[in-house]
Amino acid sequence: MSRKLKGIAAAPGVAIAPLVHFHASLEHIPTAKVAAEQVPHEQGRLAGAIAAVAQNLQALQRELSGQLAGGQLRIYDAQLSILHDPTFRRDVEQEIAALGVNLEVALQRVIARYEAVFAAMENAAMRERAADLRDIGRQLIGALLATERTKYTANGQDYLFAADEFLPSDAGILDRQHIRGIVTAHGGKYSHGAILARSLGIPAVVGVDEVMLVSNTGTDAIVDGDAGIVVLEPSPEERAHYERLAREQRGVERRLREQRLQPSVTPDGTLVRLYANAEGVHDLDGIDAPATAGIGLFRTEFAFMERRQFPTEDEQVAMYKRAMAGAGGKPVTFRTLDVGGDKPLGYFKMPEERNPVLGWRGIRLCLDWPDILYTQMRAILRASAGGHARILLPMVTSRSEVVRCREVLQQLVADLREQGIPHDPEIELGVMVEVPVVVMVLDDLLPLVDFLSVGTNDLVQYLLAVDRDNQRVAKMYDPFHPGVLRVLRQIAERATAAGKSVSICGEIAGDHWFTPLLVGLGYRDLSMAPVFVPRVKLMLRSFTLAECQDLAARALAMQSTAAVRRLVQDEIQVRWTRYLGTANEEQAS
Ligand code: PEP
Ligand code: MG
Repeated sequence: MSRKLKGIAAAPGVAIAPLVHFHASLEHIPTAKVAAEQVPHEQGRLAGAIAAVAQNLQALQRELSGQLAGGQLRIYDAQLSILHDPTFRRDVEQEIAALGVNLEVALQRVIARYEAVFAAMENAAMRERAADLRDIGRQLIGALLATERTKYTANGQDYLFAADEFLPSDAGILDRQHIRGIVTAHGGKYSHGAILARSLGIPAVVGVDEVMLVSNTGTDAIVDGDAGIVVLEPSPEERAHYERLAREQRGVERRLREQRLQPSVTPDGTLVRLYANAEGVHDLDGIDAPATAGIGLFRTEFAFMERRQFPTEDEQVAMYKRAMAGAGGKPVTFRTLDVGGDKPLGYFKMPEERNPVLGWRGIRLCLDWPDILYTQMRAILRASAGGHARILLPMVTSRSEVVRCREVLQQLVADLREQGIPHDPEIELGVMVEVPVVVMVLDDLLPLVDFLSVGTNDLVQYLLAVDRDNQRVAKMYDPFHPGVLRVLRQIAERATAAGKSVSICGEIAGDHWFTPLLVGLGYRDLSMAPVFVPRVKLMLRSFTLAECQDLAARALAMQSTAAVRRLVQDEIQVRWTRYLGTANEEQAS
């Protein structure tokens, strides 16, 4: 029987395929009843999983033998001995037979039992073993899931990615040809996983708490990324309905693509430059350079996350040159490393923080580790010799941070000149406006920078005190809040008065419901996931500047988010729906 799960619409589009679970966790496991005659087969799966995990552990031990002390390497011996313990094996096999459950459930139960015993021990060293056990359990489940996954991912068929979270580092494991949709238990529309899904053009629903609990790998499902709905085991009628929807969407996309090379101007001739956001190097292929004005935000941390260690200066130069080539010679804005918060770097140990989003992240971290900043800025400068590059600083809070970064930049320019290494000595330096207090000190900061880029994803999170990754408060994360719009207007006014360019690179720049408002508030540069460029262009070409300004003035005077949303519905959605209607009729004929 079909089941409908409600989540958060994170990336538009409809997809129909089997769900495949990624990410091993002892909490979320496949569950199945096992009949008596299947028990030996189920028990037999354990040996394969043990062999796979043992092989991994031994390989890891060999890889790290030169880097870790003997004591640390013995952790792996301890894990291997649990793995090969005959009692552990027998207990798991008995659990399968006694309860008629699948191996994953048996493992979960046995590990929980053992863990409780170890955790209650007096001896601290023995208590530590509870963590080892858990880790072994997780690895075994991981090996079993991986085997199960290959049934669906290795046969050239389409599938849907399901996991607790979609992490930026997952982009590397996806088979772009066959992944059709993403469903996660956690996250919000403005989480980096959702941003990545949009930039890859993959429909996604996030914050579906139960998805990992109530589905197994292989369950047929529908992801409706526009409504934020996941349908498990859809009925033939539901399937037909969504197949029709997907066909209609393809019609709309075709219409949108047809006008992708039209100038991005309002009907009365106001130019609004539309740039692409790029998440790492793998993203560059999706950029339609002729349809955009360049790359308005290159999130360099994604390129760092795809690796196993920090890229060297030369590797970074190659990466940045590749981005510049991807932009077809148009400007590329490189944001310096914005790790921390929800973007950890596997190979750079960060402290556990109670409030990571208010913690050691972005430029704060780089100024504490100046080597990272020097190497990166020097690499961007070297790449800038071959085109138009700009440097953007994330998470700036004060003027003094910009002063320090300017000094670093000046020093690097002087060094490169002295060494005779080509670079752009006039490279522009800008800051992200994403920490609210920056808005209050813009007049002090503007003389120091060449441009501003408004990071509305974080700015809204901090203005509204709503975690962008927390599905429980996702409803409160609403950039249509009149207070947010007033702050956005203030930023545009201050930058324009100082003669500095200002763009928006947060997700609202690519949300076509915002386009007329942002133009009306004074923005002429918008940077977004490339898939949204055609939509935003169409919206732009439907509203005159006077209409945009009138809409913005009315929205700014509203006293509630709901009132702004109504205004958007009445004035903006009506035109869009009219357009969609035409597209659908064309599709039908
Ligand atoms: C933002 O905060 O709006 C932004 C563009 O940066 P990120 O989403 O990477 O935090
Ligand atoms: Mg940000």
